[in-house]
Amino acid sequence: MGFDKSVLICDEVDPVLNKVLTENGLTVSYEPEITAEQLTEKISNFNIVIVRSRTTLTKEIIEKADNCEIIARVGVGLDNIDQDAAKAKNIRVINAVEGAMNAVAELVLGLMLSMARQIPRGDRAIRNGEWLKKQLKGTELKGKYLGIIGLGNIGKRLGRLARAFNMNIIGYDVIPIDPEFSKEVGLMKADLGTLLQSSDYISIHVPLLDSTYHMIDKEKLSTMKSTARIINTSRGGVIDEDALYDALKDGKLGGAALDVFETEPATGTKLAELDTVVLTPHVGAQTKEAQSLAANVIAEKIIQILRGVI
Ligand code: NAD
Repeated sequence: MGFDKSVLICDEVDPVLNKVLTENGLTVSYEPEITAEQLTEKISNFNIVIVRSRTTLTKEIIEKADNCEIIARVGVGLDNIDQDAAKAKNIRVINAVEGAMNAVAELVLGLMLSMARQIPRGDRAIRNGEWLKKQLKGTELKGKYLGIIGLGNIGKRLGRLARAFNMNIIGYDVIPIDPEFSKEVGLMKADLGTLLQSSDYISIHVPLLDSTYHMIDKEKLSTMKSTARIINTSRGGVIDEDALYDALKDGKLGGAALDVFETEPATGTKLAELDTVVLTPHVGAQTKEAQSLAANVIAEKIIQILRGVI
């Protein structure tokens, strides 16, 4: 039996979501270009509102969502949804944590290899008619110490992948780290200070909260090895980008790879001036597999909620 509910999909998502919801009798409006004004005007017509990254559901918009029961994010982070406003309207907020973990962890490996072997620099040079063979002597990941900050879904997946490269894994989290995972990868548990001082590569996998805003600041950067490289695929505000720029420019840090930025799109970032930096435009979860998995997870969760199972 179908559900008599109306759904608004506000961003571009894998077609499987629309398909599964429609098959279950829901009425789906797919409006991946909808503006904030249009959304404010029509949100009260819908029982379920689905977003990815483009749409921000602000307090003002959610306050108009008089018939909304579920807000779903086809992704992990919920920072584009005002969760307090949703709670005040008794709207359930769901996300798909499972979708992105392999995609983001694989991107981190790509970024580490890009820095270790200076792949983007070699590519840029050839396009400019230069053959930088001598200048591009790299290093290997094998035997290096990888410090992972935040051992949740993505941090753990990265730890497992990095073991295949024979990296040594150091981990820091504010909650106890899964003992089975620790045993499997031979994890060395450390406090944040020790992790920063000891690691050759540092990868951040924490949510953006008041407590993690600028957790990597000028002072923390000054404690890292001058050859260390830092990778951020979590959220932009976790690293103080001005302090990072200064540390790299002054040769106090070996390199940085960023997929996320304090302001996005980050097309004007001054970090792009530096050869030791690798930049990607927030593509951590941007794989066919991750998008399809997240869409399936959200479709399944919505159906289960409507059936009263979860
Ligand atoms: P998760 O909730 O599974 O894990 C986060 C971990 O961080 C938890 O174990 C938590 O205890 C830990 N943590 C929280 N505060 C901490 C602190 N102050 N110090 C140390 N550890 C702390 O989340 P996840 O699915 O692994 O996602 C991690 C991050 O990746 C999130 O910020 C998410 O938004 C981001 N993300 C980015 C992309 C992308 O496209 N680049 C895609 C998906 C997720």
